[in-house]
Amino acid sequence: MAELRPYPLSALVRRALTELEARGTLFDLPRRKLYTPSGRHDLRARHHGFVASTPLGPAAGPHTQMAQNIALAWLGGCRIIELKTVQIMDELRIPRPCIDMQTIGYNVEWSQELKLEESLEEYVKGAMLVKILRASGQLEVDPRDQLLYDMSVGYDLAGIRSERVQAFIDGILDCSAIVDRLRAEIPDEFKQYRDLDFPTRLSDTLTLSTFHGCPPDEIEKIIEFLLEEKGIHSTVKLNPTLLGPARARELLGETLGYDALTIPDSAFEKDTQWQQAVDFCGRLGDRAAGLGLSFGVKFSNTLIVGNHRDFFPKSEEVMYLSGPPLHVLAVNLVGRFRETFADRFPISFSAGIDKQNFADAAAIGLCPITVCSDLLKPGGYGRASAYLSELHSRMDAVGASDLPSYIVRAYGEGAAALEALSLAADDPTLAACRAALDGGGDLAAAAGDHMDAWVSATLLRNTRRYVAACTADDRYAQARNAKLPRKVGSHLELFDCLSCNKCVPVCPNDANFVLETPPREQAILKLRRGADGWVAREDGTLTIAKKTQYANFADFCNECGNCDVFCPEDGGPYVVKPRFFGSLADLHEFADHDGFFITGGGAEIHARLGGAAYRVDLAGDQVRYRGPGFDLRFRADDPAATVEGDGPDAEVDLTHYFVIRWIRDAVFAPGQTSYVRLLADEPADAQPHPAT
Ligand code: SF4
Ligand code: SF4
Repeated sequence: MAELRPYPLSALVRRALTELEARGTLFDLPRRKLYTPSGRHDLRARHHGFVASTPLGPAAGPHTQMAQNIALAWLGGCRIIELKTVQIMDELRIPRPCIDMQTIGYNVEWSQELKLEESLEEYVKGAMLVKILRASGQLEVDPRDQLLYDMSVGYDLAGIRSERVQAFIDGILDCSAIVDRLRAEIPDEFKQYRDLDFPTRLSDTLTLSTFHGCPPDEIEKIIEFLLEEKGIHSTVKLNPTLLGPARARELLGETLGYDALTIPDSAFEKDTQWQQAVDFCGRLGDRAAGLGLSFGVKFSNTLIVGNHRDFFPKSEEVMYLSGPPLHVLAVNLVGRFRETFADRFPISFSAGIDKQNFADAAAIGLCPITVCSDLLKPGGYGRASAYLSELHSRMDAVGASDLPSYIVRAYGEGAAALEALSLAADDPTLAACRAALDGGGDLAAAAGDHMDAWVSATLLRNTRRYVAACTADDRYAQARNAKLPRKVGSHLELFDCLSCNKCVPVCPNDANFVLETPPREQAILKLRRGADGWVAREDGTLTIAKKTQYANFADFCNECGNCDVFCPEDGGPYVVKPRFFGSLADLHEFADHDGFFITGGGAEIHARLGGAAYRVDLAGDQVRYRGPGFDLRFRADDPAATVEGDGPDAEVDLTHYFVIRWIRDAVFAPGQTSYVRLLADEPADAQPHPAT
């Protein structure tokens, strides 16, 4: 269903603390994909002065919308979590599908799809979940692990000043009341975690997201308000249109070959111009410094382009581009910004980050380096740990063990940057730095107080090199990014498929999941009530050929469409595969597709199949099966011989009973830890939307 539903912390905790042992996964992320810190590489980085164990983060977007997303990002090695942008308009109607990852990445998404109050609680829940996972002893975690959250708000001053957005920000700054309430929800069997020192101030930093077309004076007023009245270290996310129409179009078209893409003139006319951004950044930097706060910029927002494809509805005139081409545009903006401001402002970065270029973004001193599009590809959150492994390799290649020394060594610019520091020729520091650089020594020890300046001078030189290199790199060009995901021409059905498993990790909300069920064949029974009772006949066979089946938890599925893009079969896993709701009310309300709701510890199953409503109640081996015009009772092991009850004159087909029963049994098979299984075990009053 398009609406997301928060999930109880109690069931999230049960899953987090049982799944790894039971299934070798955590929120469906395989153990081998979990980030393991390296004792040899110190990836600590600073964001507005606060230390995180890695500079990597999920960008404010689909990967930070729900509590389990936050846990998954952390499991992949992300240590600066950009919480999804919230705004006063929190009842959005977004076209579905809203994410097109067939090639480079487009979306028509917007801000949080949960209500403001739900978002706050979801973020707190995610932070508590991470803390519990960290304390659980089941993972290899650096005892000094440091995780930062960056809140994101939009989109105009009136909205940000509104009571509800203010309550959200204040709630992030002090979430102790929510933490205390949620502590009590940690299940009794895990009560030792109730006393953990959960964060009660989730963040001290904020990134302002503005509308495409937000006037520059509005941006400045919002940041002033955040600095002066909220006392928050602030970042403003800027648009790629800052490059100006000529340069943006040249990069996108002539340089990268995306000739089919058009950037509307209005995008440039309405957006902040370069000089306006330079001016307000200068003023805001001064204002923040005067208040003892930090101000930074983020490159970049997505790029608005005409909707020339047939993926989104034609009612959408524009869409938002991300991925490889945005990387080049945003890196060019970083270069231009640094030519103006040198290293005065911290730069947060999100644009086409992937395994290959993450280490380059680190080499030019960007932090946080956040990612969205690449995590939507097969592998999902599991791709993140590979970025960090690649960074480890790149650090090893240049003999660096921490990020500052990596910046100095990464591109061989350290020596020239050292000369630019204007140290006296006979200054022993100069000799020590040269010796350390040439001999693989400790750069920080050699440079002493000059280390920050050395890093700063080097990252400016690195930036120039990387701007040139990535602009010329054809891996960002249209020709290298035109291949569509493979489709084989078959259509999905309820059971059985190619079992490629892609739909599970590509879902940012972890809504798709695996069900294990023994392959089976069942004669289809059809029952007719005669003068002497019910008469059964067999008519064909119902078959499950594969042990591994796929299903969808509708409460976490906002119908973004991403799993459909990567599924080799047609139809969309979130549409065709068994779709479970967390409440009966939602099963009834969202009746566009078939679905299931299981409650009563698995004893009560509601289903909509072929558009018709069914209900199965189980009591030992006794079954009550209700559907359109019938209400039957029989023994599970022999329905034909034991059936009784009311029915129509026409035959009652037991096919749907067997489908419901198999699906229910798969959900409740030993070792199953799906959201559906755990929710069915929750007491009714702990469920978000109790059955009606
Ligand atoms: S299940 Fe598919 S459509 Fe639903 S949220 Fe996940 S990726 Fe999107
Ligand atoms: S539903 Fe599609 S993506 Fe999912 S396992 Fe089956 S074939 Fe693969």
